[in-house]
Amino acid sequence: MEQLTEAQIREAMVNCSRQEASALFVPSGLAFAPWDELDYFGWGDPNTPGRFSLVYWRGNRPVGIVLRRADRRTSRRPQIHMCSFCHTSQPSGEVALFTAPLAGVAGRNGSTVGTYICAELTCSAHVRAQPIAAPIPTTASTILRGSRTQLLERLDRFVADVQRPR
Ligand SMILES: [Zn+2]
Repeated sequence: MEQLTEAQIREAMVNCSRQEASALFVPSGLAFAPWDELDYFGWGDPNTPGRFSLVYWRGNRPVGIVLRRADRRTSRRPQIHMCSFCHTSQPSGEVALFTAPLAGVAGRNGSTVGTYICAELTCSAHVRAQPIAAPIPTTASTILRGSRTQLLERLDRFVADVQRPR
């Protein structure tokens, strides 16, 4: 993905107030982030456990959301969960329920939407690591492009749901 600046990231947030966006934790050293290997940029706030944010490009405009990660409970029986963004199936601890406040009044009143996502927001790496298995001869780069496009489409659908007026 194309690189983002701190100002762009704060400006991109659609489901928090301007004050919250300006107070949001944004990692330093953005110029050194591995932008080429990312489809969206996601990070956790080291000072507030469970608080995460992510930003991606919707066309030529950055769009971002703040998220809360639910506590990861370790179940006695091993379970497999699938990330709703990258569709990677993983042991339950590696995929977590995230909730996003709705944009606007509904979110300020406490309404949220939730989905299961890679617990450390590492979808970009999973999409790139997926084994290549295709029934018809096709190049690896074509498959990679396909799954990256789908990752961004699913992410964008979720964010559109966050933004949908209630
Ligand atoms: Zn994922």
